[in-house]
Amino acid sequence: MRNLHLMRKLFHGISTMWGVAAQQGLYRCGTHMQQVESFSSAWMLVEDGLIVGLGGEEGFYGVDRANVDEALWERIDLGGVEVLPGLVDSHTHIVFAAPRHEEFEMRLKGESYEAIAAAGGGILNSARKLQAMSEDDLYEQAAARLRTMIAHGTTTVEIKSGYGLTTDSELKILRVVKRLKQDFDIVIKATFLGAHGIPMEFKGEPDKYVDLVIKEMLPKVVEEGLADHVDVFCDRGFFTVEQTDRILKAAAAMGLPSKIHANELGLTGGVQVAVTNGSWSADHLEHCSEVEVGLLVESLRMDYGGTVPVGLPGTSYFLGIPYAPGRALIDAGLPFAMATDFNPGSSPIASLQVVWALGCTQQKLLPAEAFYAITCNAARALRCEKEVGALAAGQRANFFTTKTVDAIKAIPYFMGQNHTHQVFVNGRLFE
Ligand SMILES: [Zn+2]
Repeated sequence: MRNLHLMRKLFHGISTMWGVAAQQGLYRCGTHMQQVESFSSAWMLVEDGLIVGLGGEEGFYGVDRANVDEALWERIDLGGVEVLPGLVDSHTHIVFAAPRHEEFEMRLKGESYEAIAAAGGGILNSARKLQAMSEDDLYEQAAARLRTMIAHGTTTVEIKSGYGLTTDSELKILRVVKRLKQDFDIVIKATFLGAHGIPMEFKGEPDKYVDLVIKEMLPKVVEEGLADHVDVFCDRGFFTVEQTDRILKAAAAMGLPSKIHANELGLTGGVQVAVTNGSWSADHLEHCSEVEVGLLVESLRMDYGGTVPVGLPGTSYFLGIPYAPGRALIDAGLPFAMATDFNPGSSPIASLQVVWALGCTQQKLLPAEAFYAITCNAARALRCEKEVGALAAGQRANFFTTKTVDAIKAIPYFMGQNHTHQVFVNGRLFE
């Protein structure tokens, strides 16, 4: 028999609890992103890892603390901290074999990211090293990165393949992600990104590589149940709109939804192909005109529920390229989201707290808007907003505590520090 005391927890001693929501599954569009809802002198009831009630001086949602017999609940005094929902990183590439410091220096000497990629560096460099590395070694490295991310308050992570570029290596990466899913209690989503770059062997014949992705890789990925979504790097010098369309349609026919890399290097039709195919998100958008913004707004009224625009400000910062127009996307009424894009080439950034700050300083978001962009809206980009991204009855008790006062404004203000005090996953302290 299970011990009731172990399953039921009452968290209290919370000066302010941020990011609370009246119902499960809320995400925020446009002006609804300006104010973060909170409880002061707050408490939270957690049963079997899920929030069942929460409240404070202002009221409560779900089960009221006054109606439970507190003797049956394990009381956990958090000691006066502020609490925030676990952050959601909807776009990462953390399974990689080696960092790319040399290319970092090459870029600082004046080479562009595209020129390095064309000379066999970049993604192809990562692919060569990954192909030679064992699954166990890859796992250990990725697990260490994941622990760093969790220590910075992230409790939902999307992880892409894409540094394999052969069937075996792509499957190897996705099996590593599967092991991470089994070993960590946080929410992990896997994305098959076989079309991340065109391998040397297919230089000049990208359509043949697309055939390989569609006819050989995708069926194996689906058969082994290794991916939750498919992704394509749809951009200048990578995959065309037509090739992207073929891959997304083939994946959809096998039951895989899509999220894509769009418009990092130019206005290349990425948003158009994403909306046409009902993609859950269009990520990057460093190049995004009024036409793209209008299409994204229209998509919100479509049956699939719309394509979430995801900005990756760490990439813009690291590569010195434009930022996604987060301000304009929010002003248009969209549920703008942000992610780290954690990867060895264009964003070696593990912390969403840094992304939060960049969203404010570089994209002119209010602290509250940037907070929603890395919580419930990022969860929406993964269609798991009913599970994570806010503190509401029915959602997972994934949250972090901070001793930083007035956290929503102070975290992005004091950039470069880790403001996390403790991280809880399914109501349990992560150690
Ligand atoms: Zn990416």
